[in-house]
Amino acid sequence: MKKTETTSTVLLKHHLKALRLPTILGECEKVAHRCAAENVDLLGFLLQLCELELVDREQRAAERRLKAARFPTFKTLEGFNFGAQPSLNKVLVTELMRCAYLDQRESVILLGNPGTGKTHLATALAMEACRRGKRVRFWRVIELVTHLMEAREERNLLRFKAQLAKLDLLVLDELGYVPTSKVGAELLFDVISTAYERTSIIVTTNLPFEQWTEVLGSERLVGATLDRLTHRCHILEATGESYRLKDAKQRQRRGAEKPTENRKGGAPEEE
Ligand code: ADP
Ligand code: MG
Repeated sequence: MKKTETTSTVLLKHHLKALRLPTILGECEKVAHRCAAENVDLLGFLLQLCELELVDREQRAAERRLKAARFPTFKTLEGFNFGAQPSLNKVLVTELMRCAYLDQRESVILLGNPGTGKTHLATALAMEACRRGKRVRFWRVIELVTHLMEAREERNLLRFKAQLAKLDLLVLDELGYVPTSKVGAELLFDVISTAYERTSIIVTTNLPFEQWTEVLGSERLVGATLDRLTHRCHILEATGESYRLKDAKQRQRRGAEKPTENRKGGAPEEE
């Protein structure tokens, strides 16, 4: 009797492995004992196992998507201090976190000076998209251009573009510097054009719209690409001061206060 049980357990585990059900494999004996003790019927037992597998599978997929997106750092909206950036449209950011723009294949442009939280917000939005099952890839524009040029030289461009075409969301961080070569610029603008109405894009840039064609190139190709990008897009603008700068200034101020306190030995200031 014992022998039969062992054989069937071994076989069961083998089958579960072959069927790629690792959570059921790991949990089946424990859940079986619990269900027996609680008088749960066989279908109830099966249901519990399937639920465990599904939850775990979703979590594993979410982790894979997050890894595949290659975020430079993880940022959340909870970690964003809207008080420090009052010009920013908080209502729109909150709305975008619901990710409906992705189903409409709309894009988002984050405008503002360095340090105003553009990359932070782009990452938070894109991480939320990942959480909701979307395929995302984060690229710094400069790195994307290099990668495109390399792919072209190695005759891998079509394959790379096919990978990009599978995405739901492409993040282009730091658009604003002209790619060093004409080919690089053409490849970049081709990616943006191809994505039009198929893949959502989040762009961060410190370049005001008025300067786009002037800086990025006013040729027909560039003009048409930027026209596509800005069509059906949500614009978030941060006109405030750099968060990094403010933070540094505060720390400096605190640093400057300390020696004064020491000199006075903590005595209240006389004035
Ligand atoms: P940008 O991309 O606009 O140059 P970043 O998003 O890289 O700016 O922000 C610089 C740093 O300051 C990051 O570490 C970011 O998390 C932080 N930061 C910027 N703005 C805020 C904010 N309003 N609240 C919290 N952290 C912020
Ligand atoms: Mg940035």
